[in-house]
Amino acid sequence: MTIDNFNFAGKKAIVRVDFNVPLDENGHITDDTRIRGALPTLKKILADGGSLILMSHMGKPKGKVNPKFSLAQIKDDVAKALGTDVKFAPDCADASEAAAALKPGEVLLLENLRFYPEEEGKPVGIDKADPAYDEAKKAMKASQKKFAEKLASYADVYVNDAFGTAHRKHASTAVIADSFDADHKMLGYLMEKEVQAVDNILSDIKRPFTAIMGGSKVSTKIGIIENLMDKVDNLILCGGMTYTFAKAMGGKIGLSLCEDDKLDLALDIMKQAKEKGVNLVLGVDCIAADSFSNDANTQVCSVMDIPEGWEGVDAGPETRKLFANAIRGAKTILWNGPAGVFEFDNFAAGSRAIAEAIVEATNNGAFSLVGGGDSVACVNKFGLADSVSYVSTGGGALLEAIEGKTLPGIAAIKG
Ligand code: AMP
Repeated sequence: MTIDNFNFAGKKAIVRVDFNVPLDENGHITDDTRIRGALPTLKKILADGGSLILMSHMGKPKGKVNPKFSLAQIKDDVAKALGTDVKFAPDCADASEAAAALKPGEVLLLENLRFYPEEEGKPVGIDKADPAYDEAKKAMKASQKKFAEKLASYADVYVNDAFGTAHRKHASTAVIADSFDADHKMLGYLMEKEVQAVDNILSDIKRPFTAIMGGSKVSTKIGIIENLMDKVDNLILCGGMTYTFAKAMGGKIGLSLCEDDKLDLALDIMKQAKEKGVNLVLGVDCIAADSFSNDANTQVCSVMDIPEGWEGVDAGPETRKLFANAIRGAKTILWNGPAGVFEFDNFAAGSRAIAEAIVEATNNGAFSLVGGGDSVACVNKFGLADSVSYVSTGGGALLEAIEGKTLPGIAAIKG
């Protein structure tokens, strides 16, 4: 079933949203992107004459009630965004009466799902090495199923619109779908858009295809780097991983970030790129700093010859040109991970050069997908989020989808 084809009139819809929004120390939302992202789905259901039961996690309460992560803190913001009152169920697993009392057009927000360990379904307080672990896991899976059935019992139809958690097989993201037949479960609009964006990147690729992988480490990106190697024409590797490559090639990298156990892997990636005819673009020069702070002294130097006591913190001017050249002519672009410590204004030029080249390519007809927390923060910082084709809300979920893995949250609905 698709959300467009379903008439919610008189129906109760339980919607898994991602309201895991950042809060300041007073419990005020600092960025409401995720709430706004869910609005098209929620408004469609209300406009049809349905009622809404909203469920989400927030933070990592690890299966215990913790007021710091209470969704009660955001109830009024959700109400404001929806333009209607929102009721609150302080116990997500004890909301049958509140759900049953909902009239068309009414909204009920359930308390944080992760106050129950059943949401994530991991046994608590037992080590994986413990001989009793398997038993505990089995018992937890059984109570997870019951927890999911309880949530399902509140509603006639299930909608999953939480892309950020689609790579998790949790009670509310996947297990709950077993309680609904194919005509009564569907993806929300945000999920549909995310799936479409990944599809644009993976199938029917318009060439050249340039992927830009940055961030701090090779190790966390290796799965996607190897997977992209079979698809891209240009692969830019930047950010902290630059120095693992430089060291692997015999460079002196000073205090720069380096994964010493990944030097062989770096050489292997270079070999694979050569064999597969992929144009691998690595930094040649960098901005080196004498301390990890925005006010550090800096100098431009070769990534192969960074002085002792200095560390590479951003792409240098030659590198920025190389990156921009590999991006400007592209027709498909994927960007995940910054080219430097962009959080410090003085080390944001590399990431800015990438963002600006992506915008230029997009204006020339490229499809550009920016995803993963830090690159999204980058385009937001530069005010360019509206100038790329698509900004994904999913970090881990996006990378797993692009690696070609089936996301449990999507499989649970689409089969
Ligand atoms: P990741 O979580 O692996 O995507 O990495 C994102 C983080 O990498 C950001 O917080 C950046 O500040 C950081 N980063 C990027 N380039 C460097 C660098 N050259 N040295 C240290 N950290 C970096």
